[in-house]
Amino acid sequence: MHEMGIALQIIEIAAASIPAEMKPVQVETIRIRVGKMSAVIPENLNFCFEVASKDTDVEGATLCIDEVPVVARCKSCNHQWTLSGPAFRCESCQSGDIELISGQELDIVSIEIAT
Ligand SMILES: [Zn+2]
Repeated sequence: MHEMGIALQIIEIAAASIPAEMKPVQVETIRIRVGKMSAVIPENLNFCFEVASKDTDVEGATLCIDEVPVVARCKSCNHQWTLSGPAFRCESCQSGDIELISGQELDIVSIEIAT
């Protein structure tokens, strides 16, 4: 389970992005985008976040996870498709020269603070 490392990373980034003069503050929601390629299981990540955020600046916040599908593009024929599992060949021309154009991201989209 690698979700704990990711949860710690999110907490660190989120906590660092809260200006010192605003602390202590109640963070309500942290919205993130996670590519399906990163193999994050949202339930696990939520659980890890809850455990790891205790006694931090973001304790009590809800983690809102948007999953981003994995999209690949073939460099040979320019075909683009959404992957449902691992794929190393273009489904159109069978070329192995493909690149992933989304699905590997792990971004914090927004941090909502209670007012
Ligand atoms: Zn192709």
